[in-house]
Amino acid sequence: MSTSQYRIEKSYRFEATHLLRDHDGKCARIHGHSYKVDVSIAAERLSEGNPRTPNMGPGSHNDLPDDSDAWMVRDFAELDEVMKPVIESVDHYWIIPEVEQRWYELSIFEQPNELEDSLRYLDVPRTTAECLAEWFARQVSNHDRLVSSGYLIREIEVTVWETEKSRATFNLKP
Ligand SMILES: [Zn+2]
Repeated sequence: MSTSQYRIEKSYRFEATHLLRDHDGKCARIHGHSYKVDVSIAAERLSEGNPRTPNMGPGSHNDLPDDSDAWMVRDFAELDEVMKPVIESVDHYWIIPEVEQRWYELSIFEQPNELEDSLRYLDVPRTTAECLAEWFARQVSNHDRLVSSGYLIREIEVTVWETEKSRATFNLKP
């Protein structure tokens, strides 16, 4: 089945350090990346707003989107509202999978309290670009307001760039 889609995309950046445990290569050493994150959201149709009630206020029981983002997939500003706190939550941190917290504490951090402000434990199995792309996509899809049933979002795709030439993409159909 082929369908037409509109798609919006926006790019974000953050800096972080990490390492890949048990990796057979130089990624096992601690190092950093200037990550780029491309977020794309696709919809089969655009919201047409509600021309009969252009000034919908509180108390309206219409589930349609208001006119502020008519003829868009979603307002870019709304994507920023979702993504900026997510980006800030990892920017300039040492990102670590939650499942490896104990290993880090025992193996690396003799005095974890002193490094606590630098660490960010994430719900990912590894901090590979693939897992980070999935993590970002799920942050977006978990956001009720951005992907609510009143809209026609069919796909969220996130690409995480570790370098200018290396990237991984995760595609989610909410
Ligand atoms: Zn790396």
